[in-house]
Amino acid sequence: MNAKPKIVVLGAGYGGMMTARKLTQTLSPEEAEIVLVNKHNYHYESTWLHEVAAGTINHNQARIMLSDVFNPNRVRLIYDSVEEVKRDENRVILENSELTYDYLVISLGFVTNTFGIKGMEENAFFIQDIDSSQLIRDHIEYQFVKYKNSEEKNDDDLTILVGGSGFTGIEFVGELAEKVPELCKKYDIDRYKVKIINVEAAPRILPSFDEELVEYAKQSLESRGIEFRLGAKIQECKEDCFVVGDDHEEIKAGTIVWTGGVTGSPVLSNSGFELTKGKVTVDGDLRAPGEDNIFIIGDCAWVMNEKEGRPFPPTAQAATQHGITCAKNIKALLHNQPLENFVFDDKGTVASLGISDAMGTVYGKKLYGKSAATMKKVVDNRSLYMLGGMKFLLKKGKVRPF
Ligand SMILES: Cc1cc2nc3c(=O)[nH]c(=O)nc-3n(C[C@H](O)[C@H](O)[C@H](O)COP(=O)(O)OP(=O)(O)OC[C@H]3O[C@@H](n4cnc5c(N)ncnc54)[C@H](O)[C@@H]3O)c2cc1C
Repeated sequence: MNAKPKIVVLGAGYGGMMTARKLTQTLSPEEAEIVLVNKHNYHYESTWLHEVAAGTINHNQARIMLSDVFNPNRVRLIYDSVEEVKRDENRVILENSELTYDYLVISLGFVTNTFGIKGMEENAFFIQDIDSSQLIRDHIEYQFVKYKNSEEKNDDDLTILVGGSGFTGIEFVGELAEKVPELCKKYDIDRYKVKIINVEAAPRILPSFDEELVEYAKQSLESRGIEFRLGAKIQECKEDCFVVGDDHEEIKAGTIVWTGGVTGSPVLSNSGFELTKGKVTVDGDLRAPGEDNIFIIGDCAWVMNEKEGRPFPPTAQAATQHGITCAKNIKALLHNQPLENFVFDDKGTVASLGISDAMGTVYGKKLYGKSAATMKKVVDNRSLYMLGGMKFLLKKGKVRPF
């Protein structure tokens, strides 16, 4: 080991940011060197990406420059892509360099999973990061411009198809219900010409929410022009359509977005970890099985809910809490103290259905409508505050009028 142990955190999402922040707060500069590696020079709020993709917020609102959060004398910031972890050598291979570690935290988040659906990778957009979300926003607006300026108008150009009705798909169509009328006004296009269609293989939307909340969400979205095609299995994604069902019906569109699934970072498989559905099932203290000095957190990890015998769902809320436990456990290792097991404090979940509507459960209580929408903004602002502090809350916090 180096004279001063080196802690390397990979990924500046919810898990990585929280780990690095807590380490700076609880360790003195003499105790350890802290390095944070991230693909970009900014953190982005993944939970706001559907708003960036619909264009209801500017992408700058959803991101925080890392150099504005961390003192570079305290946390060494490296902007590069992680490719592989060489566990036997305590080494991380980056696209442009490499580095060694004494303690490693892998918090590289999620990538979209197309489950091998033919043509999805090539023809659909994904809500995966800031860049991919901006592309969707620009593509949708381009379709409006094209339609407005073409002599032979094709109404299908204005259709937006969204595959998957989990959390991301539903929050995204909720934002589209807000944005589309604005675009129609801007380009003088009849709102009824624009279709927003959510396509889902299962018979219902939002599998993790209770039926009453789901019914509320569906009715709210339908009343604002969202169409649902439930029980419609996507067989293939072509350049201009989804092919669905046993009769291979083609649903045509000018914009196709797939939100149907995510999995852990490919760095995990590149590094030879044993995977279950693309993620590592970690020990109770968040370390990778058989590894004394490697923690895996956030969407890269399955953390078992021992009471229910299955993993906790991957969320920003969980990733943030993983970061807190992970930092404590690294400190414990440095001081030869016992490690603690992660305990999830489930505060509930709220799904937005546009600017002024939402639904969900908070501390076991169901919320609907404006009160849920207000709560959603409180949750979003709390996240900004926890990761970036008051400065970012004041600068980027959400105070959207209803
Ligand atoms: C649209 C949407 C809405 C959501 N809404 C909610 C919600 O309301 N509530 C909730 O709890 N959860 C929500 N989630 C889920 C939540 O966003 C994730 O569970 C959470 O982001 C996981 O955090 P993380 O720290 O593991 O990874 P992330 O937040 O994804 O961060 C990963 C970081 O690693 C970086 N990175 C990735 N690969 C590399 C690489 N190879 N090299 C270098 N850096 C890399 C990325 O740039 C990023 O900064 C939502 C997700 C989406 C997409």
